[in-house]
Amino acid sequence: MSPCVVVWFRRNLRVSDNPVLAEALRMGLPVVAWVSESKSDLRAGPHRKRFRQESLHSLQKSLAALNMPLIREQPEGLVPRLGSSGFRVREVIGPKEPGTEESQEEASLKLALKLVDDGGLFTKGTLSFRQSQLPPLFTTFRRLVEPIRSSKPIRVAAQAPVSLISDLFPVETPSPNQRSIMVFSGGEESGQAHLRQYLASGAIRTYKATRNGMVEANHSSKLSPWLSLGCLSPQQILRGIEDYESCHGENDSTYWLKFELLWREFFRWVAFQEGRTLFLPQGIQGLAVKWRRESSLLEAWQEGRTGFPLVDANMRELKETGWMSNRGRQIVASFFTKNLGLDWRLGAMWFEEQLLDYDVASNWGNWQYAAGVGNDAREFRLFNLDKQAKDYDPTGTYSHKWLPELSPLRGFRIYSSSVPERTKLGYPEPVVDFRLSAEENRRRYEAATRKSKPRQVAPRRGR
Ligand SMILES: Cc1cc2nc3c(=O)[nH]c(=O)nc-3n(C[C@H](O)[C@H](O)[C@H](O)COP(=O)(O)OP(=O)(O)OC[C@H]3O[C@@H](n4cnc5c(N)ncnc54)[C@H](O)[C@@H]3O)c2cc1C
Repeated sequence: MSPCVVVWFRRNLRVSDNPVLAEALRMGLPVVAWVSESKSDLRAGPHRKRFRQESLHSLQKSLAALNMPLIREQPEGLVPRLGSSGFRVREVIGPKEPGTEESQEEASLKLALKLVDDGGLFTKGTLSFRQSQLPPLFTTFRRLVEPIRSSKPIRVAAQAPVSLISDLFPVETPSPNQRSIMVFSGGEESGQAHLRQYLASGAIRTYKATRNGMVEANHSSKLSPWLSLGCLSPQQILRGIEDYESCHGENDSTYWLKFELLWREFFRWVAFQEGRTLFLPQGIQGLAVKWRRESSLLEAWQEGRTGFPLVDANMRELKETGWMSNRGRQIVASFFTKNLGLDWRLGAMWFEEQLLDYDVASNWGNWQYAAGVGNDAREFRLFNLDKQAKDYDPTGTYSHKWLPELSPLRGFRIYSSSVPERTKLGYPEPVVDFRLSAEENRRRYEAATRKSKPRQVAPRRGR
């Protein structure tokens, strides 16, 4: 049997700027690429599944150009599969990933495994502090790591042909959803094309002012789906921003896109640091809030039938397309935890299933933050839906797109009309009273904060 090295493709589905691949090729043995379905992959809904399948299809093509076969096997099938082609696995090299299930997957692999830092702007070695000394607050973290500069791209060369046939990763061609904010097609090539198009459009110049928009594709970068599967690396995006700045000059907005990438980075290191605490109801703050678990409320929220137009429009967009803006996510997560009072983890699980860009660290970190149990001041931060509608959908355009039954209520009347006017049109009655539900949940939250000592008290973040 000939020895070979296996590259484990997890959430690093690209060949360019891939340190794991580079490390494997350095060993000078035949390299075989391998993917399997993680527990989270198996929980993915149709949009995320489709995006991943497209990404694998694209990866297989790029690897073929490097003479590297890609095989799909569950971990226990890897050794027999390679053995049947005359290969013995010397070592598996894969990216280190945040998340407890991900760590279990690493620990349960019964082969020599080398984990390499990938997927972040920094590695353990390039962070300006020891990982165990990660500051609990984003602002402190940001100050320690700024200004950020890109590192040199990692290049890989083709290997000699390997006598193993690649699996096929067919893609269906779904009819594009006409209502989706844009077409998201998975893969390194389309991720690169999207990054180039976003930068060439010049939309980055106004990013800071538009990033909370819910209607236009270029209101924000829409890079997250490619980042979440590693079709693009954050370093590649940083290089793109730097190139843009050197041609067209820096401004607040070009800086702000880097600032947001640092949020992603922060949540990533928090996830490594916190381990299973990221998934506990009491969160990083250790607050024993009495969360509810009521299936009728959960379903109404999931289906976009809560009787609150701004929440419902966002939830319907998510279910139909796999996308929701950052503003939308904050609004529906606030409503979920502060009005419905539901266990925030149920919301995070629904996002995990539905979101095209699901990312363990960003999702669970942001949900903890929304629930008031994460890396932040203890504070019952409620989003006022009327104000959010006035600020972010003043003409009602966004909600009209997703709530066709309310089309007779023109413009902003989709929000300002009375409940009977809406129910007459077949729209659901509100599942809770907005004010009373918020007061009740505030009392529950405050009762929990009185009972437990603060782990970290910080000033308001002001985003
Ligand atoms: C409840 C909730 C759940 C979320 N779940 C996810 C998730 O599963 N996956 C995910 O990628 N993002 C998640 N986010 C963060 C954020 O909403 C998305 O990253 C952002 O909307 C993606 O759109 P964009 O690429 O156009 O972002 P842009 O505004 O263009 O930002 C550029 C990049 O910065 C990063 N970024 C921006 N905002 C955040 C943030 N708040 N936290 C972490 N990174 C950020 C993302 O990588 C993003 O692609 C969640 C936010 C909330 C409030």
